[in-house]
Amino acid sequence: MSRSTLVTLLSLFLSANAANAEPTAPATPPPAPITVLHVGHLIADPAQPVRERQSVLVQSGKITAIKDGYVAGDSVVDLKQAWVVPGLIDMHTHVTMEMDLHSKNPTGDFMPGFIGRPVPRAFASAARAQALQQKGFTTLRNLGDPASITYDLAQAMAAGQVPGPRLIGSEPQFETAGGDYAPFNFGGRADVEPLFKNRGTCAGATDCERAVRDEIRRGAGVIKMRLSAMHLLVPGSGPTETAAELNAIVSTAHRLNRKVATHSSGLSGANLLAIEAGTDTLEHGPISDADIAAMVAHHTAYTPTLLAAKLASESGAMGPMDFFKPAVDSVRNAHAAGVPLLFGSDVPVVPFDGTAQEFLLLASAGLTPAEVLATATTNAAKALGMEAQLGTVAVGKLADMVAFGTNPLSDLKVLASPVFVMQDGKVVRNDAVKH
Ligand SMILES: [Zn+2]
Repeated sequence: MSRSTLVTLLSLFLSANAANAEPTAPATPPPAPITVLHVGHLIADPAQPVRERQSVLVQSGKITAIKDGYVAGDSVVDLKQAWVVPGLIDMHTHVTMEMDLHSKNPTGDFMPGFIGRPVPRAFASAARAQALQQKGFTTLRNLGDPASITYDLAQAMAAGQVPGPRLIGSEPQFETAGGDYAPFNFGGRADVEPLFKNRGTCAGATDCERAVRDEIRRGAGVIKMRLSAMHLLVPGSGPTETAAELNAIVSTAHRLNRKVATHSSGLSGANLLAIEAGTDTLEHGPISDADIAAMVAHHTAYTPTLLAAKLASESGAMGPMDFFKPAVDSVRNAHAAGVPLLFGSDVPVVPFDGTAQEFLLLASAGLTPAEVLATATTNAAKALGMEAQLGTVAVGKLADMVAFGTNPLSDLKVLASPVFVMQDGKVVRNDAVKH
């Protein structure tokens, strides 16, 4: 091709493009609207003093500024008569399960979770998650879902296809073969046992590492590990798990940027293996003084699920054992030692509309009101590894906020009755005055 032909072709190309071009430069998109919350009393961080008459500016789902006094915005939410706290975090739920502690066979209620139809369960689970969101819980950790709908539900909620809270889940409970599930969760139905395929059951370090990798690829936002309760069935027995197995589960999860939550069945030797393996949180308990010392050394946080222990003991559903007093003692000792404590309801073991009672039980176990509020905000965000996004009302964080009609630090009971809930900058509940 001659040079002149090339020039001609090039100029044709350029003129054709010039004819198609807009005569003016493309317009820049308009800035996202700014919502301003006029907050009478702001508890931005439970450890800090309450700030009066604040404006919290929210744009594109994030907090962009906090100003003294009441400033203007594209839309204004009047919370001048309210106390505003960070969005609440429930670190231990099973929103995809149903259970009636007062039925004749409460553990048998889990069965529809793995033999029932997944779509109706997903609809029912979305409604339960939404009910918790309406109570101010904008983030839920879902720790075990035999119906295997958590990842799809979390994704649909994150995409806004289904309203609901932020869901961080592990569908299986990772346990070593011969562990906890088989004896407890079949309601005596041997015919059902083969249907219950727990993807988290593994044996040996190599198999456990493979299982965790597979699960994270499938969508796990956290890894739930479940220590065996074999010692209850075989008195005098030690941990079913080996250190190598627990190390494989935890180190694989951490390498793939996931936290690990470990269900404790109260056997100190097993708890110690999990703590030393580096589990991020220990759930339930009870926990011994040796466990607590190890938790301090390894910066392990504790989710005691006090209300679940109380209700399970009162109903007798889990046998004649008293789970509550050892749980309260565990909280007192962990608190005295400086172990970070976390709010976890363990729904459906506790009713979906009654989870806020956990706050009162934490207070009666010796926490100050500010420490109680921290269990569902600052402590929880840290334990999720999301302290840059969640846990306080601060510039740059996600706009998750909850308002109450009176000061929750003066009376924790009000935490059961929010008047306003915002998640990711969207108002999902507002019983307060609107402008
Ligand atoms: Zn649980």
